[in-house]
Amino acid sequence: MARVSKHQAGAGSNLIFLYGPPASGKSTLGELLADNLALPFVDLDQRIEVETNLTIPEIFAKEGEEGFRRLEKTLLKETLNLGWGVVALGGGALLDPESRSLVEQAGAVICLAPSPEELLERAGTTSTERPLIADSSQENASSEKLIDLLNRRESHYASFAHPVDSISKSPEEVVWEIQIQLGAFHLRGMANSGFRAPAAGGDSARPHPLGYDVRVSNGALGEVGIWLEQLELKGPIALVTDENVAPFYLSRTLEFIQEAGFTVQPVVIPPGEAAKSIDTVSYLWGQFLEMGLERRGTAIALGGGVVGDLAGFAAATYKRGVRWVNLPTTLLAMVDASLGGKTGADLPQGKNLVGAFHAPQLVLTDPETLDTLPQEELRSGIAEVIKAGIIGDATLFERCTQGWQEIESNLGELIRRAMAVKVEVIEADPYEGGVRESLNLGHTIGHAVEVVSNYELRHGEAVAIGTVAEARLSEKIGVAENGLADQIEIVCSQIGLPVEIPEELSADEIIKAIQMDKKLAAGRVRFSLPVKIGEVQTGIEVEDLNLIRL
Ligand code: ADP
Ligand code: ZN
Repeated sequence: MARVSKHQAGAGSNLIFLYGPPASGKSTLGELLADNLALPFVDLDQRIEVETNLTIPEIFAKEGEEGFRRLEKTLLKETLNLGWGVVALGGGALLDPESRSLVEQAGAVICLAPSPEELLERAGTTSTERPLIADSSQENASSEKLIDLLNRRESHYASFAHPVDSISKSPEEVVWEIQIQLGAFHLRGMANSGFRAPAAGGDSARPHPLGYDVRVSNGALGEVGIWLEQLELKGPIALVTDENVAPFYLSRTLEFIQEAGFTVQPVVIPPGEAAKSIDTVSYLWGQFLEMGLERRGTAIALGGGVVGDLAGFAAATYKRGVRWVNLPTTLLAMVDASLGGKTGADLPQGKNLVGAFHAPQLVLTDPETLDTLPQEELRSGIAEVIKAGIIGDATLFERCTQGWQEIESNLGELIRRAMAVKVEVIEADPYEGGVRESLNLGHTIGHAVEVVSNYELRHGEAVAIGTVAEARLSEKIGVAENGLADQIEIVCSQIGLPVEIPEELSADEIIKAIQMDKKLAAGRVRFSLPVKIGEVQTGIEVEDLNLIRL
């Protein structure tokens, strides 16, 4: 049974604190992080200077360290009331146990841990502004003081849960690592239909950004009410789920939403791909109408890819579009379907033939909901995680080589990393014209295999087969380095994913199915093929499809 813990208002990741020794890069990284997440940025030292109209060294000279700390603590407490934000803390702000515990309750703390050498290099130019390390009387005093300070506080800094290593990385890379650790992303590529929330007044206002937030954390389901409030979403709310998910998560999700003061009605649909029809969409429209869902109201999807696609499409079309929130509960939906704003339904003639781009306001992912997902569904989802690793994250691929047990115990990180790869690709190409094609890796052959198997194979199983087959093809035409296909095959088969086109499926039919897809895609089969782990080449036309025969 999944554990979904309840959180106090303000918990979660909407306040992110950057901490670490002087000159560790808190302000630079904080500003970048805030920008990436479309959050306001607060530099606590700067705030103190503005508030007192004095520079920090002046405050130290006048009031001593004790006086400075008192001021710092008062202003720190004020920032805790901000609903949103990235806060850069002074290098000693959390030495005080009370401050530390307040901050840790209010949000996530990221502690930067650069090496002493890096620190000295960075501190060199600005040490006079850093009173605890500055000393004009001796040439080398400031570096000695910095080392001394670092030594004294070593165990303090090491005691924080999210240490981030910044050695030989660009600020952008460090910030991306931080985002992966936090499970916090913001997708801004797609202009949202729906409403722009009015900006709340006062200090805590978050300029309402275009795009949407993506968060991954254990227990996130318990925070859905807080998020609805913070995003200023409106009721009534239609909570759409399916018959398999409902017994596990429906009642508690309803409670979380009601506790935040919203009117909410459940809408339960049958499970599985068979339900992904216009009939079900029509049923959703009817239910929305019956409960009085207004143009300003909100739909929420709680379930796998099928629920997300359908509820999202119903939201895209109902009253010309209402806002919606996605709470994915399958691995496949978390790492793939929930990102990118695609919604839709199947027609009797084929899958996903009707749809719309309609981004949600929020994707809130709770890996604990995977505790109840059948093993086969979980395994199938791992195929998309492996795909993400091949496309853009060699570390992620490497994690997948460590066997099933390791994978299961490390799911949170795998999800965050796989999402990060997809987020990066989508941000570069929100409406699918260029690099986003790389996400098709394994899917040209995979999709054909899925069709020819009459959907007997799960999507992820077909993708595993497709990924291995496309890696072989890539080697044959000289795009991939030798041995890549074997490497991928071993990883997939180790965890029980199929890696060969089943004997009962004829190669002719698979080639025909690929050509069918080609007709739909304006006459060209363009493969996205792996070059090596972490790199994919898109738009490769393969003249002779017979090459996919083994
Ligand atoms: P996918 O997300 O793989 O595209 P579905 O939405 O059809 O596909 O979900 C796969 C199956 O898993 C469905 O039968 C669905 O009801 C069920 N399911 C989804 N999430 C969970 C969960 N967290 N626990 C148990 N069963 C779930
Ligand atoms: Zn897929």
